[in-house]
Amino acid sequence: MRVTGAAYPPRLSQRCTADIDISGEQIELYCDNELVSQTSFEQLTLSDSVGNLPVRVSFPDGWVFVPEQNKDIDCLLQKKGRKSLRIRKIESNLWLILVSIIFCVAMLFAGYRYGIPWFSHYAARMLPERVPAFVGEKILEQLDEQFETSHIPAKQQQAIRARVDLLQQQLPPMPFPVKIEFRDSEIANAFALPGGTIVLLDPLVELAESDQQLDGVILHEMGHVYHRHMMTRLVESSLTAVVVASLTGDTSGVVHQMIGAGVFVMNTGLSRDMERQADQFAKQAMLKIYHTSEPMAAMFELLRQQRHIQHMPDWLSSHPNFSERIESMRQP
Ligand SMILES: [Zn+2]
Repeated sequence: MRVTGAAYPPRLSQRCTADIDISGEQIELYCDNELVSQTSFEQLTLSDSVGNLPVRVSFPDGWVFVPEQNKDIDCLLQKKGRKSLRIRKIESNLWLILVSIIFCVAMLFAGYRYGIPWFSHYAARMLPERVPAFVGEKILEQLDEQFETSHIPAKQQQAIRARVDLLQQQLPPMPFPVKIEFRDSEIANAFALPGGTIVLLDPLVELAESDQQLDGVILHEMGHVYHRHMMTRLVESSLTAVVVASLTGDTSGVVHQMIGAGVFVMNTGLSRDMERQADQFAKQAMLKIYHTSEPMAAMFELLRQQRHIQHMPDWLSSHPNFSERIESMRQP
C-alpha cells in the first residue's frame, strides 16, 4: 500500500513529492519515484498526531515523510500502539463526549423512571394468578413476625367482611377476590398485599368513627388491588435490583434482594401516582355507593391527628400529602 505526501532530505530544507510503501516488512520511501530510504517498521519514528497537524514519519537516516492526509497512515499509528485518528478525533471532541454522557444518563434515567415501571405494569398483569397469591402469602408470613393476633371481636370482623363482599359486588371486577385479614400492631394502618389480601390493623379499625370511614380506607386498598399496584411495585423493585446489580457487577445479592423486596415495599410504600390512583378509585366508589366521599376526608383527618407514629405507613407516608388528599376528597 502506497501513501503519498512530501519528503524532506536530511539536513536540507528542499522538499520533494514523495510516497511511502508500507505494505512490506521494510518501509520504503520514494522521492520523485526514486527509492531514497528504507527501514524496518521498528526503526521508524512517528510524531504524535495533535489535532489536524500532519504526522511526521522519520527515517533513521534523517529523511522525513509527511503524508497528505493523516488518515492514510492510520494503520502505522495503530501498529505503533497509538490510538487511531478516528478515535483520537472522537476523544478530542468535548461536545461529543458531553452529549454522549448526557445521552447515557438520560437513557438510564428514562429506563429507570419510565422503562422499568412500564415493563413492570405489563409483567405484573402477565403473571399467572397463583404467583401474586403465593407472594402475598409469603409477605404476610414475614410480616406476621411483627404483628400480633387481632383483638377485634369476631362478630365485628364478620360484619366488616360481609360489607366488603357487598362493596365488591358494586365495583368493577377485581383481578383477585378481595380477602380481609385482621392483625394487631401499634400503628393505625391498612395495606393490600399482592393477590388481593387486605390487612387491617386494629388501631385503624378502632380509629374509624363510622363504617363509611373504614370503608373509605378499605376502598383505597381495593384500588391498589384493582390496579395490581403491589405486584407492579414488586416487579419494579426486583427489576431495579437486578439492573443495579448487573451494572455494579454484584449479582450475589440479587436473589436475597428479590426475597426482601416484598417487605421492603411494605416499608417504603407505593409510588405517589399509585396512591393518587387508589384515592381516585376509592373516591369514585364512595360517590357511587354512598353518594359522598366526605367520610374518607374525615378519616384522613383522623389519621393526620395521630401523633404517635414512629413508622410512616402507607396512609401517612410521603405520598401525596394529607392536605392534598383531603382536599381532593372534598373536591366535587
Ligand atoms: Zn395506599
